[in-house]
Amino acid sequence: MASAPTIVLLGPPGSGKGTQAERLGELGYVTLSTGDLLRAAREDDTDLGRHASEYMDRGELVPDELIDAMLGEELAGLDGDKVLLDGFPRTVEQANALGGLLDDRGRELDDVVLLEVPDDVVADRIGNRSQGRADDDPETVRERLRVYHRQTEPLVEYYDERGLLRRVDGEGDPDAVQDRIRSALDGS
Ligand code: ADP
Repeated sequence: MASAPTIVLLGPPGSGKGTQAERLGELGYVTLSTGDLLRAAREDDTDLGRHASEYMDRGELVPDELIDAMLGEELAGLDGDKVLLDGFPRTVEQANALGGLLDDRGRELDDVVLLEVPDDVVADRIGNRSQGRADDDPETVRERLRVYHRQTEPLVEYYDERGLLRRVDGEGDPDAVQDRIRSALDGS
């Protein structure tokens, strides 16, 4: 029997991964958002949360080994569920680790949806949202974008080479973006 689907949402900060992940919940996907998990850990003042905080506030990535361990634990509780990963992997090292983590759970990666949104648009969107996130000030947003291009964008080629990449235009109305994502998943 084929294992339950596993998909990744890839895209720059402010590309709408969180919004789109929530809507994909209607199709039965359980979302694992590393950003949300880290913010919850910080809120709970756990060792992980305290350690991650300093990186998050600078707009830098939290070290791979912490993230990989956190993801492994979360995945272990989701056998049989459709899983959507939001914000992971973010480095080639994490992508390699994900292969092993999925293998441990008898899973395979089915699709990687890339939300394509230009830098000036994401910077505007983050500037306009008012969730009061500590890392949403303009200088930290610029750093998060630099980090995306340097450390995360290599994953576009990584997954394209493996035949898993589905490019989706992330600009415009969120409902229209959701429709594009669903067609990309259907057509895969
Ligand atoms: P965004 O996509 O808008 O940057 P996230 O909520 O996904 O927001 O991430 C916020 C911060 O959490 C990141 O800037 C980083 O410090 C940390 N983080 C989230 N996911 C990862 C990850 N996979 N690896 C390392 N750090 C991460």
